[in-house]
Amino acid sequence: MSASRPRTRRVARRRAAMRRLASPGRVRAAVAAWRRASLRVAFVPTMGAIHEGHLSLVRRARAGADRVVASIFVNPLQFGPREDLARYPRPVGRDRALLAAAGVDLLWEPRPADVYPPDHRTRVTVEGLSGVLEGAARPGHFTGVSTVVAILLGVVAPDELWLGQKDAQQALVLERMVRDLRLPVRVRRAPTVREPDGLAMSSRNAYLSPAERAQAVALWRGLAAARAALAGGERSAARVERAVRAVWRRFPLVRGEYVAVVDAATLEPLRDLRRGGIHPGRGRRVLVAVAARVGPARLIDNLEWSRR
Ligand code: AMP
Repeated sequence: MSASRPRTRRVARRRAAMRRLASPGRVRAAVAAWRRASLRVAFVPTMGAIHEGHLSLVRRARAGADRVVASIFVNPLQFGPREDLARYPRPVGRDRALLAAAGVDLLWEPRPADVYPPDHRTRVTVEGLSGVLEGAARPGHFTGVSTVVAILLGVVAPDELWLGQKDAQQALVLERMVRDLRLPVRVRRAPTVREPDGLAMSSRNAYLSPAERAQAVALWRGLAAARAALAGGERSAARVERAVRAVWRRFPLVRGEYVAVVDAATLEPLRDLRRGGIHPGRGRRVLVAVAARVGPARLIDNLEWSRR
């Protein structure tokens, strides 16, 4: 009798199995019930093809909230006409199992018409931040991102929104959207999760052949060279950029797109990285952002560095 009691209590405290819903109305109602019970709700939006990077967001979200909602939606609005929307990986069963095991309470899997009904007309654009770096390489991309996240937030209405540093510009755009639209949600960023050799985890790594996968480490090696240069006292952005490109030249399957040394808060290009250099008053954080094509995949990565 006394031995069975603790076991009963443990079972009673266990979370319910992960629910899966498609309808926005049912998602809204489920979250509203939690909010009425004074439970804190965190939200992790994804496009699926779940990996450890996504799962780290779920675990962090869980640690700070009572309930975690995740979404899987391959958002057509953020893909350009010649991009990989049709072949984006969709391992649905595996994704569900991984998210359930990581502690997601509610998985929202909207159908395209749940997000964009035929008479949908609204677009959300964060001016300026959306037009540079990834935004310059992928016109319209960030309008697609901010529009879908505004819609998802309108339905889920979470206390916290969790985003990955892996997509630093995306996080910045969404933080600004939340601030400018006065959306009642706290945005949190989680660090980039990497493979053992340093390659940032990404759903798009699945496109790489074994030879390409071996060379994709060039993005991280380039950033590591930038970090070493900065740690060694280099304060010229042009020379930091050259250090990255010098690494890339050793990897013939890697076609570099950009190396940008920018203010991490504004994405404005920097030239002189000294604290009191020619950009006095600018933020202390420097972002080194890179993009490259490796075989069929277009990969991005970044490094943040604080000027002291
Ligand atoms: P995605 O499914 O690629 O749209 O990513 C969903 C969320 O996971 C975004 O907030 C990403 O920034 C984040 N994310 C993707 N890859 C990683 C990673 N390697 N480490 C941390 N967060 C990540």
